[in-house]
Order: sequence, then structure tokens, then C-alpha cells
Amino acid sequence: MKTGILAKQIVESLKQALPNRQAFTALHEPVFQGNEWDYIKECLDTGWVSSVGKFVDRFERDIAAYTDSPYAIAVVNGTAALHISLLLAGVEKDDEVLIPSLTFVATANAISYCQAVPHFVDAARDTFGVDPIKLDEYLQDIAEIRADGFTYNRKTQRRITAVVPMHAFGHPVDLDTLMGVCERYRLVLVEDAAESLGSYYKGKHTGTYGKLAALSFNGNKIITTGGGGIILTADEGLAKQAKHLTTTAKTPHRWAFQHDQVGYNYRLPNLNAALGCAQLEKLPHILKKKRQLAEHYKAVFSQLEGAAFVEEKEEGACNYWLNTLLLDQPDELVRDQILEFTNDAGFMTRPIWTPMHRLPMYSHCPQMDMTVTEELEHRVINIPSGSSLFSDIVSEEVTR
Ligand SMILES: *Cc1c(COP(=O)(O)O)cnc(C)c1O
Repeated sequence: MKTGILAKQIVESLKQALPNRQAFTALHEPVFQGNEWDYIKECLDTGWVSSVGKFVDRFERDIAAYTDSPYAIAVVNGTAALHISLLLAGVEKDDEVLIPSLTFVATANAISYCQAVPHFVDAARDTFGVDPIKLDEYLQDIAEIRADGFTYNRKTQRRITAVVPMHAFGHPVDLDTLMGVCERYRLVLVEDAAESLGSYYKGKHTGTYGKLAALSFNGNKIITTGGGGIILTADEGLAKQAKHLTTTAKTPHRWAFQHDQVGYNYRLPNLNAALGCAQLEKLPHILKKKRQLAEHYKAVFSQLEGAAFVEEKEEGACNYWLNTLLLDQPDELVRDQILEFTNDAGFMTRPIWTPMHRLPMYSHCPQMDMTVTEELEHRVINIPSGSSLFSDIVSEEVTR
């Protein structure tokens, strides 16, 4: 294995899968093939470039309609969406919030912004997300429900308020089982759906199961607003509070500057929302192309021994945001060799995130057994996933 056989085979498979590639194939590139220029020009022509404007309102309506969420509140990025969602979920100073250790650092940081403490949960092998069965057993061991109706960590004596699952690379977590755990332990469910726009669990859009959810429109996400985020909720009161808190907590008046609490300037500028409206029009097309690329990869990598292409599960339709190879065996040396060979050959590949429980600022936080997390850390490799890659393959096949 350490001789680099698998790494060489993966490079050959990528060459076969992406015959028409450019000099360097990025992990995920945005595509602007719709009304982006027109809508942004309209902002510039009318002067509505900043924190209010018709595209902000439209983007909120369009995302709500697309996800079938009653309310959607646009904000400046996904991290801000998580921060506000946690505050509105009732997370207070010194509370603990359960999150996967395998996530992007923003999930943990948003908890820190609330002066709360992340408490790390191990991953499930099939979804890469939180393992709700293992979480249930763990809570039976460490948690107790007290007279005030909240769950407490018996070891730290801190209140555990919420759980934030994350749908990694677009693969939905086992939400049914997790919602059972939330009910038993009276935890508020807040979804980090930053990577799962266009992913569904049992026919319902991810991010509409939790009391609140956060989406992200950063440049590397499935669609982008440059930078941006959305808070989803079905609760009208929470939606109003989310808008209020993210717009400096200003009480409406024609001229007076009245603010009734410490608010945040987390507004999404109209310019960014204009980009988002145009991108969202193209989302069905983007999802189709990404699915075609995933099917194509699946066929190419089916020949490979030692690693497998990760497919969607029956109950969860995946947006295939980032395509993933899973090594049969966890092996850091082999993984790093694959990363080296593929990047050298011009294919941008990436490992999964360093688990949060090993980052310096979070290593002291409470955690459960991390066997699967640490195994997956040395098995997962993301491969180029941009939606334009499949069109390149097809046009190559046509012209050949
Ligand atoms: C991208 C991402 C975020 C944060 O989004 P930003 O818009 O970059 O702030 C949060 N959580 C996860 C899992 C992400 O992938």
C-alpha cells in the first residue's frame, strides 16, 4: 500500500473521469451562466447596493419557496446564521451544545460566540454526520433531566440546550433517530445545513426539520452570493426576532434611531442577494449536472480496489456538493500520498476537516469516544466536484 499503488490508480481514474480538464481542476468552482450580470447591473443602475433592496426580499422569498420553509432570513454569511439561530434556540452562556467533531470550524465557533461550550459527538460511518444511536447511549450515561425541565451534564454540571447536526458534503444525517433523542432529552434541534441546499431527507428539504437552520452561500458552496447565509424557521415569532436581531434591533420608525437591544449588523447586501437570486434560478440545472458527475465518478471508480465512491443513502437525496472517496482502510500515510499525487497531477483534492476536539481552542471541551471520527479522518478524500466539470466531459465526447 505504502508504495503508492492506490495513489497512482486514483490519479489514473481521475484522468479517465475528467478527460477534458484544464491545467488545474479546482475542488469546487462557482458558475455564473444566468442572470447574474443583469441583476447586479440593476443594483448599480438603481443605487440599491447595500443592506436593503428588492433582491434581499426576493432572495428570502425564493429560498423559502425552494426549501418549502415558511420563513427565510438573509444574513451576511453562514456563520452569522448559525450564531443567531443558536441565540434564538435559547443557548445561553455556559450551556453545552452537542455538535459533530467532524465539521467545519464555524459550527463550533458560533457556539463560542454565545459564550457556550461545544460538546463533541462521534460520527456515523454511513453519513459522516452525528451518530444518533451512539449519542443516545452516551446521554443515558452522562446526562440527567432536572426539575427545571432541562438536561444537564452530570460531569460538568452544565445545561445541555441544543444539538446541531451537520449534513456533511450534502449527505443528510439520520434525522428520524436524532429527533427521537432530542425529544427524550428536550434538546432544541438546530441544523447546520450550510452544505446541503438541494439535499432532502425522506422527501423534505434538509434544514426544515430543526427549529432553526443555517444555510451558507460562500464562494465554494453549491450556489454563492459571494458571501451570505440564510436562517430557516417555521416559527413566525422566531423569524421576526431573527430579522430584528440581524438588523441592529432597530424599531421601525420613519426617522428615529430606536434600538431595543444589542443587535447585530448581519444584513446581506442587496448586491449579494442579486447574485443569489440569479444563482438560485440555476440551482435545478446545477444539481442535475452534479448528479451526472457523481454517476460518472461512480462508474469510473467502481473498477478501483482499496477505495470507493460514496453514494447517497436511500432515505437521503444528496446534492453531491463535494464528491467523496472513502478508503477501505484508515491510513494517514496512504491518504497523504493520495493527496500529494492527485494535487501534483493537477486535481485539487482535500482531506476531511481536522476534528474539532483536536483544535487547540476546543481540545479541552467535553467529548465522547471518537473512534469513528478518527477513523474517517484518515479515510475521506474529496475530489473535484464543480458543476461545470460534467459539461466539459460531454462536450469532449461530442467533439472527439
Ligand atoms: C461553509 C460552512 C459554514 C459557514 O459558512 P460561511 O458562509 O462560510 O460563514 C458553516 N458550517 C459548515 C459545515 C460549512 O461548510
